[in-house]
Amino acid sequence: MVHFVGAGPGAKDLISVRGANLLQQADVIVYAGSLVNPQLLEYAKKDALIYNSASMTLEEVIAVMEEAEQRGAMTVRLHTGDPSIYGAIKEQMEELEQRHIAYELCPGISSFCGAAASLGIEYTLPDVSQSVIITRMEGRTAVPKSESIESFAAHQATMVLFLSSGMLEELAKRLIAGGYAPDTPAAICYKATWPDEKKILCTVQTLAERAREEGIQKTALILVGNVVAAKEFRRSDLYHPDFTTEFRVGRNEQGKEKIEKADERKRRTRKEI
Ligand code: SAH
Repeated sequence: MVHFVGAGPGAKDLISVRGANLLQQADVIVYAGSLVNPQLLEYAKKDALIYNSASMTLEEVIAVMEEAEQRGAMTVRLHTGDPSIYGAIKEQMEELEQRHIAYELCPGISSFCGAAASLGIEYTLPDVSQSVIITRMEGRTAVPKSESIESFAAHQATMVLFLSSGMLEELAKRLIAGGYAPDTPAAICYKATWPDEKKILCTVQTLAERAREEGIQKTALILVGNVVAAKEFRRSDLYHPDFTTEFRVGRNEQGKEKIEKADERKRRTRKEI
């Protein structure tokens, strides 16, 4: 059996309990060495065989898994963050299927969640943004034309950019061309949750300059949108005293239960908040 495991954003204890258990049991570990914190390997058994996939091809990774499978060994393929985001796991799963090798996926905390925690922000604030767009600048991997930075910028929603910190002049130009004001709040989060993490608050316009000053070219996320430095937002309905939900009856300012017609209450409690 092969387990694809999300290592989390960096800190050793930000892997899931299930992920850590799997690492402890693994006979073979193939980890994405360019981004996974090596401290995660401290979970491994003393005699586990450990491979760094940074210098391996897909074929070589699959050969290691296949060999392990033949001798009944368990493999963990350790990917940074959550494996479903820019993890290149589909190609591995297909190869395993062709070889009739069973696999399972164990999710992880994506770096974009780690970055929000480090920066102390909420991506979805009422009246500011209720959507998070996860995307990247085109690099050697093409991005479909219909997913241009400009087209996403037009929404002025919260945007998280992976794999783009080496192209910030161009990114800023395209964000502004698409509709973000140049002074829209932005942040650069380098190695979120690692010991040498850096967090930089700036604006769309100053992204490239700030990254240059801090010497950041990779292993960073770019966060864009008013949620990054929101001063004004509306409090949630969910925790508002007046608001009736499936679990709580709303009360008015005098502390009296709000009387609602039965059908009205039903409608409100069903509403997704
Ligand atoms: N599956 C991963 C993303 C892999 S793509 C996840 O869910 O996080 C690699 C890119 O992720 C990097 O170029 C960088 O943009 C981002 N990244 C990964 N770990 C990071 C971290 N700890 N801090 C900031 N960015 C990170």
